[in-house]
Amino acid sequence: NTFAEIDLGELLNQNIRRCKYVKPTPIQRHAIPIALAGRDLMACAQTGSGKTAAFCFPIISSIMREQYVQRPRVARTVYPLALILSPTRELSCQIHDEAKKFSYQTGVKVVVAYGGAPINQQLRELERGVDILVATPGRLVDLLERARLSLQMIRYLALDEADRMLDMGFEPQIRKIVEQMDLPNRGVRQTMLFSATFPREIQRLASDFLSNYIFLAV
Ligand code: AMP
Repeated sequence: NTFAEIDLGELLNQNIRRCKYVKPTPIQRHAIPIALAGRDLMACAQTGSGKTAAFCFPIISSIMREQYVQRPRVARTVYPLALILSPTRELSCQIHDEAKKFSYQTGVKVVVAYGGAPINQQLRELERGVDILVATPGRLVDLLERARLSLQMIRYLALDEADRMLDMGFEPQIRKIVEQMDLPNRGVRQTMLFSATFPREIQRLASDFLSNYIFLAV
């Protein structure tokens, strides 16, 4: 019933202690071991349940173990290993802030990109390198159209507040994004879908994006 009992790695455990997290919340206790085991996950969880850490910890821990992953060298093109999609600028920034604290001194680089802000600054930030990209779907599609960002190395995909993203009309953008990482990654990508509710549209996303997934409701 402590984070130390979950095999996240000592550096990440230090950061968790620094954040004053002592006991995993129910979603964390169940989701983190499933994700560390490499399984896809459909989780019904509310805001305040601790879901951000539930998807950030396994992503950071897995990337730390895999930093040898060679990425192609194509001029001015970056290849993140993980993508976290979230509906709004506020939520994206919140996830980015938390993920940065969790990845302190791990060498894992987290970048955020959202709409309604100048794109050039975000492009420059991306060009300095990124392991985990946190983004809103609309801005990510814009960035992809500039061809400086490739999703072909994405190993981990987390969709946060998926029901809200669909309510906001982001389904076409999300499908376009996932299509770009599908072909080169079939069988490699691990996907975690988080949603407060589980209506038919979310069930359809789960069956389209997840393979052999575990369903979790807390
Ligand atoms: P979230 O549901 O991810 O938005 O998290 C809600 C709040 O709970 C955030 O302020 C987190 O920093 C905090 N939190 C998440 N997990 C834990 C934990 N295991 N122990 C203490 N605080 C936590």
